[in-house]
Amino acid sequence: MTQTFTPSRAAGLAALEAFLPQAGRRYAEQRNFDHGPGARTNISLLSPYIRYRLITEHEVIAKVLARHRFADAEKFVQEVCWRTYWKGWLEMRPSVWARYQVEAEDMARSADYAAACAGQTGIACFDAWAAELVETGYLHNHARMWFASLWIFTLGLPWQLGADFFHHHLLDGDPASNTLSWRWVAGLQTAGKTYLAAADNIAKYTGGRFNPAPFAHSAGPLPEAPVAPMPIAANAPLPDGAVGLLLTEEDLNPESLKLGEADIVAVAAAALPPSRAPAVNAFAKAALAEGLTRSAAKFRAPGEMLGMLGAESLIAWAAEHELEAIITPYAPIGPVRDRLDAMAPTLAAAGIALVPVRRAWDTAAWPHAGKGFFAFKDKIPGLISG
Ligand SMILES: Cc1cc2nc3c(=O)[nH]c(=O)nc-3n(C[C@H](O)[C@H](O)[C@H](O)COP(=O)(O)OP(=O)(O)OC[C@H]3O[C@@H](n4cnc5c(N)ncnc54)[C@H](O)[C@@H]3O)c2cc1C
Repeated sequence: MTQTFTPSRAAGLAALEAFLPQAGRRYAEQRNFDHGPGARTNISLLSPYIRYRLITEHEVIAKVLARHRFADAEKFVQEVCWRTYWKGWLEMRPSVWARYQVEAEDMARSADYAAACAGQTGIACFDAWAAELVETGYLHNHARMWFASLWIFTLGLPWQLGADFFHHHLLDGDPASNTLSWRWVAGLQTAGKTYLAAADNIAKYTGGRFNPAPFAHSAGPLPEAPVAPMPIAANAPLPDGAVGLLLTEEDLNPESLKLGEADIVAVAAAALPPSRAPAVNAFAKAALAEGLTRSAAKFRAPGEMLGMLGAESLIAWAAEHELEAIITPYAPIGPVRDRLDAMAPTLAAAGIALVPVRRAWDTAAWPHAGKGFFAFKDKIPGLISG
């Protein structure tokens, strides 16, 4: 399988179709091997599509289970559910996201940090992964774990800056999966449990492409007071009458949302400021444009690209189409949500209700993310059949 990602739902569906035969036992047995770019038939490479919800977790799992028995595909299904779990976990702890952002912004960026980002540490595997990430916008899951561990425990760099570096370059960069995976490696997610990369493990799972000397032997968990989970807010009722549908990069599959009798008279899309690497900005923008074209056709309404997500352009758009309410696929904790929350009072003052619509999948799953993944995992069969 080539490692090119085309930002469209059709490309996501095609990649899913191509991967389906591998999603059973072969995935469970082979997924931890990182054979390098261009040699990744052992994993799905679906994350850039699922991250923007060009394809959804629910449909990916449904198609996999139409092809394989649950017992054979359980590992793959669980991995997809890790994404849902991380989303729910962060949704219940918005302060973790807010603190990470402030810390990453305020931290000094040392010469060692710059060398790590440039792939100039002298640790061959680490330097190769840094270059691969910057060049391709993707890293294998195991490489992400090794990289994060070396960053934190061998190079002694702050996890927040590593998470920021990943988020800047990953095509699938996701506030929850990325931030919380870095925290997991650092020992902040599972009390007292860090992830320590081992040289022999890297040699084994890269098929000898890398054969590093031993690294740091100890990895003390970082101290942090536990953050109690907050309840997930109830889903808002859908407004009556003519509404506009606003798309953001958080969910580009509104045609599979339950929108009841909503009378969608206009569709718009709005982007985040282009603060990530150019390839990531371009991917997100093109995905948004594709989602807009698809949705405008589906809902038979005029579609408009509004540019940057902001109150002013939304108010002008709402006035043009005489909208009293704008519905938008629910944005989980992250930069889009931050912007929507910040602009809601301005929209309300202009007489426009901004109503997020959460998927049944998220509503059913997220409340189970209060504790660890093992408790969440038990709920997966119920989620799938629900
Ligand atoms: C430090 C670190 C940072 C990460 N940052 C991100 C990120 O920003 N965005 C992102 O989508 N994933 C992130 N992951 C999770 C995981 O590495 C990627 O989702 C996976 O490598 C994508 O490749 P794939 O689609 O071939 O995965 P596959 O192995 O084929 O898995 C199928 C799908 O399951 C989901 N998935 C698999 N593993 C995980 C996981 N550990 N956590 C959450 N979801 C998972 C993804 O949606 C993936 O597409 C991170 C992991 C680590 C350790």
